Amino acid sequence: MKYVSTRGTAPTLTFEEAMLTGLARDGGLYVPDEIPTLSHAQIAAMSGLSYEEIAFQIMKPFVGDTFSDAEFQTLIANAYAGFGHAARAPLVQLGPQHYLLELFHGPTLAFKDFAMQLIGQMFQAALKRNGKRVTIVGATSGDTGSAAIEAFRGLDAVDVFILYPHGRVSEVQRRQMTTPSESNVHAIALDGDFDDCQAVVKDMFNDFDFRDEVALAGVNSINWARVLAQVVYYFTSALSVGAPDRQVSFTVPTGNFGDIFAGYIAKKMGLSIDKLVVATNQNDILHRTLETGAYTKEGVTPSISPSMDIQVSSNFERALFDAYDRDGAAVAQQMDDLKSGGFEISQGAYGVLQDIYASGRASEEETSAQIKTSLAGTGELLCPHSAVGVHVAMDHQSATPMITLATAHPAKFPDAVEAATGQRPDLPSCMADLYDRPERVTRVANDLSAIETLIRERIKT
Ligand SMILES: *Cc1c(COP(=O)(O)O)cnc(C)c1O
Repeated sequence: MKYVSTRGTAPTLTFEEAMLTGLARDGGLYVPDEIPTLSHAQIAAMSGLSYEEIAFQIMKPFVGDTFSDAEFQTLIANAYAGFGHAARAPLVQLGPQHYLLELFHGPTLAFKDFAMQLIGQMFQAALKRNGKRVTIVGATSGDTGSAAIEAFRGLDAVDVFILYPHGRVSEVQRRQMTTPSESNVHAIALDGDFDDCQAVVKDMFNDFDFRDEVALAGVNSINWARVLAQVVYYFTSALSVGAPDRQVSFTVPTGNFGDIFAGYIAKKMGLSIDKLVVATNQNDILHRTLETGAYTKEGVTPSISPSMDIQVSSNFERALFDAYDRDGAAVAQQMDDLKSGGFEISQGAYGVLQDIYASGRASEEETSAQIKTSLAGTGELLCPHSAVGVHVAMDHQSATPMITLATAHPAKFPDAVEAATGQRPDLPSCMADLYDRPERVTRVANDLSAIETLIRERIKT
């Protein structure tokens, strides 16, 4: 299978190349040139298989011959062995036709582990085989960074630099990034917000001399392999509530549009998905865009669901690419307009998006209230991101089963959860000493060349 850029002019790559590259050289994002489909019978036959077996079957056509079947199965097994639940992504019922998909049983307690643990395995295998090393640079609003550092710590073919917005991640997120002691992982606190971090990383990828010098690789949600790994749990969960014989809808707490875009890929592969509901917090650019057809940047207001405090939603570009019938030039034009504040989606493309996605937002008050009522009504303690999802899902309930994605463990955001419920969630016992471990972090200004210099120096030692 070949991978093409959403802006139409970067070279076509293999899966392995797209995975190791991240952002395309024309500034676009890689997507498969076509999406393989599964028949009703093929999907039905997956019912009851293990998470790992379903993962292998779903991802294999996208990965092609990058790994042998046996090797790929081993990588998948290694990726999920460290999860704290045998089902990997267990489903619990919240009410009539409403289910919660718990994606927080991985080593850093957020759904990012599903993709990052697998990417760590795949990077290591591919680099080892080629005798290469890479420098991974990523921006995080909290959870990607901790998942990346956890997945790559100690791997000798990789240095990892994670830029996070100083003072805007939770203490658990920060400590998960700053306490690993391996010398190949580097936590960088940038003076700015998440969009600033993301912009620095994008600029680094567009500085081709630097990019080649340090063999830059990206594992942000722009990396196709991340999206791919997330497609799997749409299948496992939908199968649990009656797919493929029944339609299923999903509500997804959304920031960078990676997780929900994986749901769209599952739908295109033939999974019986009715609606994909985008749930945003008060930083509601995606909700506004789906309501009005205009993508207009406003400032970011910090919220109690910080992993969704985003205005520039990278993966939305992939959704636009398909909505524009894969016209790279049209996408490039819109992304150019975005630099000066925003763009209008064409009538045709907007109609396509409206057929696939619905949306809603939850205010700070609604999010807190949802944490409280869910605890009282179901005993389920939600993290604020998952609470945004559950709140929005309630407005989209119908006779079709709704699965809401729970994207993080409540103990990752204990202050917001305690404020809402009076109950302070405990960290799982394997992480109980997180608050006692020494931290290691470098604080930097929002300055591209200074950060590039820092990276050059660090990878030499
Ligand atoms: C990353 C993250 C999100 C948003 O996911 P996207 O793929 O960026 O849309 C939501 N909740 C949590 C807890 C996250 O870590």
